[in-house]
Amino acid sequence: MPWPPSSADFTELRRSLEWVYANSPYYTRLFDQSGVKPADLRDYDDFRARVPRTAKADLVENQRQHPPFGEFLAVPRERFGSLHTSPGPIFIPRLAEERGGTPVLKESIEAMGVLPGDVAHITLSYHIMPGGMRLHRAFEEAGCMVINGGTGSSRLQVEVARAWGATVYAGTPSFLANLGDTAREMGLDPRRDLKYRIGFSTAEALTPKLREELGATFGIELFDHCGEAQIGPLAGECRVHEGMHLHARDLFCEFLDPESGEPVSPGGTGEIVATQLGPRALPLVRYAPGDAFRLLADPCPCGDSSLRLVFVGQVGIIRKIKGVLVHPGQVQRVTSQYPELGRFQIVIDHPPGERYDRAVLRVATVGPLEDPEQLKELLQKQLKATILIQMDIELVAETDVPEAAGPPAFREAMVDQRGKSS
Ligand SMILES: [Zn+2]
Repeated sequence: MPWPPSSADFTELRRSLEWVYANSPYYTRLFDQSGVKPADLRDYDDFRARVPRTAKADLVENQRQHPPFGEFLAVPRERFGSLHTSPGPIFIPRLAEERGGTPVLKESIEAMGVLPGDVAHITLSYHIMPGGMRLHRAFEEAGCMVINGGTGSSRLQVEVARAWGATVYAGTPSFLANLGDTAREMGLDPRRDLKYRIGFSTAEALTPKLREELGATFGIELFDHCGEAQIGPLAGECRVHEGMHLHARDLFCEFLDPESGEPVSPGGTGEIVATQLGPRALPLVRYAPGDAFRLLADPCPCGDSSLRLVFVGQVGIIRKIKGVLVHPGQVQRVTSQYPELGRFQIVIDHPPGERYDRAVLRVATVGPLEDPEQLKELLQKQLKATILIQMDIELVAETDVPEAAGPPAFREAMVDQRGKSS
């Protein structure tokens, strides 16, 4: 769907909301408490102003109080086609006719250059969680022969991928790295003995370093893809590899400023808030998983006009610095390219009398440095190019940065001293 939404998008959204209001006890109550009748909503701005969000915590809490599915459920259980579970735990029933993200994934798979006849090796979990099954269905629909690899059993996976001549890998980049190591231990050459040409990378950050290493190991072209357990697959890279195209057509997606809640324009960074369209076993309205994306403003040279997104991180630790939303994960993607650098903190303050905020990256050195000044200069340049703001760099000892600042949680990575007198 386009962003901002058209009036036709809003009409489809309103139709879905009317169905949800009539069928899901949780939303009947929520709409009534908010004094909203979906049929009366005038336009998108009216919807945004009046319909409350649903946080992941609301869903977990309601399912705990009313086990197992909570009051969100909109159909009798006899109509379930399947049932998945995601960490929480959150129970996700699906109607037999719900496509479960298959069209979205199929579009992403095809944009990566996967062709009918490709042999796809899926290594996400098939147990309990939805990931493996979702990908399996989509690769089948794309005309591929699919190997249900699942997780673990690296040696067996290498043997199977080799025997069947798997041409597409789908799973986490770290497990692909593991398969490369395993193949070498088995006396194989990952590039010659395995035939992977396309990699569908998901469920983990695909860092530039990992992309390069795996490319060299396998001769594979990796494509980043993202989704979320409850709302399903969202966006994937095309062959241009600059951001992920938003392929979700069964979702009404909003991108909102995490601080003001106002819609962000292409070029800005916004939190995703998604409403499922069409009848669902467990419908979600204005579901906010807490993920922020930067929206790319330029049209993609590949010709696909859909919006392109770059994952920024979880909204809780994002800070606005000099008007730009910054997540420590973006900074880590830069620092992780230097083996001599460790964890870091970003100290933000607003010096009195100055017009702008000031940001200092205090990064720990964990190895010998050849030329500290040159390293600082290089870091500053790369940060300016990727997160779009100027940062001062301070190289410090590892003991000067708390462990809790480190990835993946980055709990103490942001030190905001604005508005605090020193
Ligand atoms: Zn593209």
